[in-house]
Amino acid sequence: MHSKELLSVIAIHGGAGTMSRASIDAGQDVAYHAALQAILLAGQALLARGGSALDAVSLAVDMFEDCPLFNAGHGAVFTHDATHELDAAIMDGATLRAGAVACVSRVRRPLRAARAVMERSEHVLLVGAGAEAFAQACGLELVAPDYFSTAARREQLQRALTLDATLLDHDASALVFATPASSRPPLDEERKFGTVGAVALDAHGNLAAATSTGGMTNKRVGRVGDSPLIGAGTYADNRTAAISCTGTGEMFIRAVAAYDICARMAYAGLSLDAAAQEVVMKVLPAIGGRGGLIAVDARGNLSLPFNTEGMYRGHARVGETPQTAIFA
Ligand code: ASP
Repeated sequence: MHSKELLSVIAIHGGAGTMSRASIDAGQDVAYHAALQAILLAGQALLARGGSALDAVSLAVDMFEDCPLFNAGHGAVFTHDATHELDAAIMDGATLRAGAVACVSRVRRPLRAARAVMERSEHVLLVGAGAEAFAQACGLELVAPDYFSTAARREQLQRALTLDATLLDHDASALVFATPASSRPPLDEERKFGTVGAVALDAHGNLAAATSTGGMTNKRVGRVGDSPLIGAGTYADNRTAAISCTGTGEMFIRAVAAYDICARMAYAGLSLDAAAQEVVMKVLPAIGGRGGLIAVDARGNLSLPFNTEGMYRGHARVGETPQTAIFA
């Protein structure tokens, strides 16, 4: 299925959301583009050396997790209880092997823990203390939970809590993202920093996808989003596509969004872009789902749709200049 003339490629996202142009001052904009560029260049160089798609997405997400601009690893958002609970997943399109962790608060790089679950355990998803113990046994770095905290995220939580006092106290199911559009702006503003992810096609024709997140600001402790759920926020299959999602996780879970794209390609013969557009522009909005995704198919075609105002994103084909974008 892989055609040799198509180049190896990596695509990345740093989250989708309502990002009014006015709310991002020029300096911040530059910082985001620079961070995306640096990550793309590293992934592109790895692929150019003949590295695997799995290694490329791992490297990209590693770099995202260390960058405080994005909601993953250092810089992750706070839960309602002012703690951090991180989720991550990785999937190998060649073998359909997958690994994920959820609700970890001491693993410095959750994506590495997810990869260890895939490669060094017989399981797919480990959560909480068990996931942390496994990561430690694998020699991965553990940190004190406040390693992930930044002043900016703490302020976000305070603002979300102020608004939530009304929203959550009157409706236990009303998480931050369930706020009606009419009363949404302050929280949507908080959502401009999202989950991170990467998808890649390597020179061997293999696909891989990886996603890592701090979840949603002010989420309930114990809540797991779409990111670590294989088929919901992360999926890769050499026969169809590699996908990493960002957005209102509950709706991506209900839509089994990432897998649905692959299924539409496999069963209905849709192109990657047609399948991705269908899911992001129709299926998800129909149940209130907001966000976007990055996808690459086995021929190197890309699709990066989102139904929000913007999504931090970019892609780099081997031998070409990396492209980054924020708005439509
Ligand atoms: N999808 C993530 C989650 O629900 C959040 C995000 O993409 O910003 O945990």
